[in-house]
Amino acid sequence: MGVADLALAGGLALACLLLIGALLRLRSADRRHRAVLDSLPQTTVAAFNHEFRVVFAAGATVDFAGRTPAEIEGKFLLGHIPQAQREPLMLHYRAALRGEQRSFEYHSTQSGRDYWVRIVPLADHKGSITGGLSVALDISDRRQMQRDPGSRAAEVEAVTDATRALARSVDPAAARTAVCEGACEVAGAPVAALFEPQPGRPGLLPQACVGADLEGLELPLSGESGATLAFTRAEEIFVTLGSGEADADREFLTRAGARAVLWHPVVRDRAAIGVLAIAWREEVAGVSLRLSAMIDLLGAEAAVAIGRADLLGQLEHLARTDSLTGLPNRRHWEQQLPRELSRASRNEQKVCVAMLDLDHFKDYNDRRGHQAGDRLLAAGAIAWRGALRPYDILARYGGEEFSVILPGCDLADALTLVERLRSFTPEGESCSAGIAQWDGEEQSDALVGRADAALYRAKRAGRDQSILANDGIPT
Ligand code: GH3
Ligand code: MG
Ligand code: MG
Repeated sequence: MGVADLALAGGLALACLLLIGALLRLRSADRRHRAVLDSLPQTTVAAFNHEFRVVFAAGATVDFAGRTPAEIEGKFLLGHIPQAQREPLMLHYRAALRGEQRSFEYHSTQSGRDYWVRIVPLADHKGSITGGLSVALDISDRRQMQRDPGSRAAEVEAVTDATRALARSVDPAAARTAVCEGACEVAGAPVAALFEPQPGRPGLLPQACVGADLEGLELPLSGESGATLAFTRAEEIFVTLGSGEADADREFLTRAGARAVLWHPVVRDRAAIGVLAIAWREEVAGVSLRLSAMIDLLGAEAAVAIGRADLLGQLEHLARTDSLTGLPNRRHWEQQLPRELSRASRNEQKVCVAMLDLDHFKDYNDRRGHQAGDRLLAAGAIAWRGALRPYDILARYGGEEFSVILPGCDLADALTLVERLRSFTPEGESCSAGIAQWDGEEQSDALVGRADAALYRAKRAGRDQSILANDGIPT
């Protein structure tokens, strides 16, 4: 074997290693990283979103003030952090928002156990903070480790990486960014971006990008540009600058500061669902068959990653939406209400809540049939939604009962809005409403209770009217 052959074999081996690395990261991130976590049973990890709500938690140890990971999912992280650490955490977080993304560590003792906790901010591909990770190690029994901070740090590092990867798999934007990072690594290219069609837009939009800022770029899906051809024909297209390229290709190359781009279709169920762009800054004559095959594999992984992330997004949407009316469901509305109250408090604004219930809806069902009843509910939801302001939050509370948050409204404003809404009830049917204004202090369920009691009074008073809950509000 000559020197050239050796170099070629070495290059090939390196490329294979890179590919395997990139694929491993994507394909079995969950399995591999869950395994890392399982091998560290003294560890609890939690990923939280920008509202400090825990989106998932894992690990066997009971931590967070004696709660298990399952118990903290969906809860506010701060409620599980020792009082003394909350302010340092917020300070650290603000530093992260300013772009200084340092992790933050503290020791805590709970129920006689010693924990070492690290909190790491998570950013999306644009560098915006989207949330963070909390990694807690139970170090009570680890005399050895306490004497050896190096090994402890390495352990926390491993767990942090594992959790970061897990967080990616539940975050659609991060899954897409991981695909771009894999593409750069495999192709030895400085820029990679994933373009996808978006509802209501004529072109392809960048959904993830590494190595360039493509904000606002939209590639038209007409004409003969490489992106268009890759998408419509599901074929790989290679384009270099100054080769009579289409406007869209030139615009992309300019924005990416690149001289050559490979447009690679991302195919699912035999149709392109997006295009992966891989761009080089130096002159590149073409793409080798070997690289093309590797990108093919990565494209397949991208389709899987996008599919899974989108599925999660759909699941999340389903979990908060009422299927008959398409409105937010009660659970989601009840999650929104405390946020709206805090917002009102911050902005020193008023806010009202109204509960609405269709009158004699049982009779309607009896007369017209249950399916007609369903149609009335769906039509009512659309008509009422249209009667409200964009930032009013209307939900199907259950059955033929609806609830609405009216930010910035006192009782008189709310009455005007709700009367308008009631007048939009379809098919000559009527509904009753109870309206309560937040007193600035009460809990959200107390507020809803007052609106509900007013609704009950409206029913008792003969239906087809709104009643204001005047108690609790100084007039
Ligand atoms: P009121 O004026 O006192 O509110 O009388 P009502 O008949 O509307 O109230 P009641 O609570 O007695 O009955 C509610 C009815 O709403 C009974 C139930 O069949 C109907 N309903 C609840 N959910 C649905 C639904 O999803 N579809 C249909 N078609 N009907 C529903
Ligand atoms: Mg009713
Ligand atoms: Mg009812």
